[in-house]
Amino acid sequence: MCLAAFVVGARQGWVYVRNEYEPERQAMQRAIADARKRGVLGHEFDIEVFVSPGGYILGEETALLEALEDRRGEPRNKPPYPGQKGLWGQPTLINNVETLAMVPALLKRGADWWKAQGIRGHSGLKFIGVSGHVENPGVFEIRMGTTVAELIEMAGGVRDGKRLKAFLPGGASSNFLPAEKAAVEIDFKTIAEAGSMLGAAALVVVAEGTDMVETATNVVRFFRNESCGKCVPCRVGTEKVVSMLEDILARRGDGALLDLLPDLEQTLAETSICGLGQVALNPIASALRYWGEEMNAHLAKQSS
Ligand code: SF4
Repeated sequence: MCLAAFVVGARQGWVYVRNEYEPERQAMQRAIADARKRGVLGHEFDIEVFVSPGGYILGEETALLEALEDRRGEPRNKPPYPGQKGLWGQPTLINNVETLAMVPALLKRGADWWKAQGIRGHSGLKFIGVSGHVENPGVFEIRMGTTVAELIEMAGGVRDGKRLKAFLPGGASSNFLPAEKAAVEIDFKTIAEAGSMLGAAALVVVAEGTDMVETATNVVRFFRNESCGKCVPCRVGTEKVVSMLEDILARRGDGALLDLLPDLEQTLAETSICGLGQVALNPIASALRYWGEEMNAHLAKQSS
């Protein structure tokens, strides 16, 4: 952060920490106090910790700025972008901690060293969170180019010795991919070519025997709950889809709205003002693409 501040001429920085991460907040504040004692901080540049009031949408950079300004955490219309007009109207540089933490190593060891950290023709290192049906969930630092199957092995393999059924490579907002694609090499371009996205780099593992309609409904419900409500397509569209899916799972729907799902997905993608609404229906759309027969099985139960 000091190096980034030096480059852009910033005098003040904030580390934004979710309120659930109390030990991490304390560790950060100890480190800041130590840096001040050593004279690294507090003269040309200083850092404060801001504890998030909570909310998935606050990961969106302009919603994060709103929260820092003590307002309701809703994304701003862009432009202007934070680099032009950010916190308190000032030009603001926003990066995630992982990116800024890589800067000293990159400057010290150089670009060739960084490139050589990747394998199979990919560059660099990446932190990836692994969750879902694995033996040892956690955060792993991998060489770019490691395959999804290799990363699942690093996390102890699929839980209870089961086989892999599906995975989300980049967190809730990425498309589900089937087990047959687990040989995909982890990098932004290769995951996109496989039909999903690396996104937040949070691999979610789904074991065999899992109902994909229920799983996708759960993810869309999460987006419905986390929608900030600022724009209509996201606020109303996610609710419509969740109630349709919940009706189908409760055997009281006819699935008539399913035909409208592609239109709704396109509408949300094109008219929502932030990434949450733009990708909110990805989980169900991709689940239907690969496991449509599971939806048909649910629909067949509607009148029984
Ligand atoms: S897309 Fe959804 S989360 Fe994003 S600003 Fe609009 S209502 Fe809020």
